[in-house]
Amino acid sequence: MNILFVAAECAPFVKVGGLGDVVGSLPPALARLGHAVRVFLPHYGQINDERFGIRRYDEFKMAWNEGIANVQIARIEREGVSFYFIRGWPFFAPHEKFVYSADEGIDVGRFLFFSMASLELVRHLSESEGWRPDVYHANDWHTAAVPFLLERVYATDRILGKASTLLSIHNMQYQGWGVGWHLARAGLPEVNHPLLRVMDKTENLMAIGLTYSTMLSTVSPRYAQEIATPEGGYGLDGLLHARLLHLKGILNGIDTEQWNPATSRQIAAPYDAGSLSSRSENKQALQSEMGLPVRANIPLIGAVMRLVDQKGPEIMFPAVRWTLEGNDAQFVLLGAGAPHYEHAAAQLQQDFPGKVAVQLGFDEPLSERIYAGSDVFLMPSLFEPCGLGQMIAMRYGALPLVRDVGGLADTVDDQTGFLFKDYQPGALHFVLGQALEMYHRNRQGWQIRQQHAMQRDFSWQRSATSYLDLYRQTIELRQAYA
Ligand code: ADP
Repeated sequence: MNILFVAAECAPFVKVGGLGDVVGSLPPALARLGHAVRVFLPHYGQINDERFGIRRYDEFKMAWNEGIANVQIARIEREGVSFYFIRGWPFFAPHEKFVYSADEGIDVGRFLFFSMASLELVRHLSESEGWRPDVYHANDWHTAAVPFLLERVYATDRILGKASTLLSIHNMQYQGWGVGWHLARAGLPEVNHPLLRVMDKTENLMAIGLTYSTMLSTVSPRYAQEIATPEGGYGLDGLLHARLLHLKGILNGIDTEQWNPATSRQIAAPYDAGSLSSRSENKQALQSEMGLPVRANIPLIGAVMRLVDQKGPEIMFPAVRWTLEGNDAQFVLLGAGAPHYEHAAAQLQQDFPGKVAVQLGFDEPLSERIYAGSDVFLMPSLFEPCGLGQMIAMRYGALPLVRDVGGLADTVDDQTGFLFKDYQPGALHFVLGQALEMYHRNRQGWQIRQQHAMQRDFSWQRSATSYLDLYRQTIELRQAYA
């Protein structure tokens, strides 16, 4: 199958969040299954061409904003996938050192240009290389214009007509408002879909993508349900309701080679599910590194997170405080984010010397040592489209204690970790107490949970197979309506 990804981020070239992880991992996993995959990305000034060996490839002209834009294409092959980078004055200039601008209105214009140039590039590649996609996979609001443009501009085009499109939602909170002005300026058709008009969403790129895409997906089955509710839909739940039959949740994977306790060079003592006793060495190394008393038998609670509302620090700090007041336990936190949460973290450390160690900042090697050395791993998220931390924790035998939402609910169960429901410090405190109780009184049960957790399959290969099924459904559905 010929699969085209169009996205605003892709690790390792450019990554801001989870979107970059998915677009960095899923295409190579599909290529390994024998499919021809291409990824189109904006050629941001901050991408390091030299480091990756990205080279100028081609250029073409495209009508844009009452003028002619010169679209420059660079390219690289990597892990069996062709990556194309698109630049066109004044968008994605070499001196521009940001991925997203602080002004969404500006980004809407930049990404509309990128979406349109991507389709023109398909036409170009079809002529020069005979390659055209069987399915177009757009991601989040940045590229949500792709299904709209295919339908409204290119419906009868020999190459781009009758396209099968999938739009993946990685985070419903961000939607891209104000596209009408940019469409008019670029000489593109206005958005006049009756559903969008009646819902007053003709200016909203995510809403436009949700309406025009053949199929929709999001990054976990539970998040697929949640975004169709008023709490999780951020104003688009009504639209999603109209398209529920065409929405599917597919869990993200993790890079199981990068995150592997058996081969890691970052941790004191490599181990696997069959040699769990070595884990204790990693715990003691972590205690020592973080300046905590080195004690093998004290429960160590870990957390690695962005300190932002989404991740639940608001309920985590009081719950951990109550837990440490009543228990012999340690808490290690690695995180960075909002100043008031960083301050609360520092305060906790001050109030519990010898029990709490906080490291503010981003530090991937340390994060791995926390996954390898903690007994319990906290993720009390307010909402969580998929979440990677809980999957990495399980792979390292740290039992995740998570809120029962989104991808957390789909990946953690009572064979592999602990769950709580209410977004309240009391609810987290209660289940954390139960976990510590089990740690002390039922070591065998604890180890069985660790083994179950470590044996779960969170590889991208599993997700890639589900995406392939979805691509086939998308193509069939499109052909049925052709
Ligand atoms: P999100 O993408 O919303 O931040 P995820 O759970 O999907 O949440 O992914 C978070 C990833 O970022 C995990 O791999 C986690 O280990 C990592 N991470 C978060 N904060 C830090 C930090 N301060 N230092 C190192 N890694 C971090």
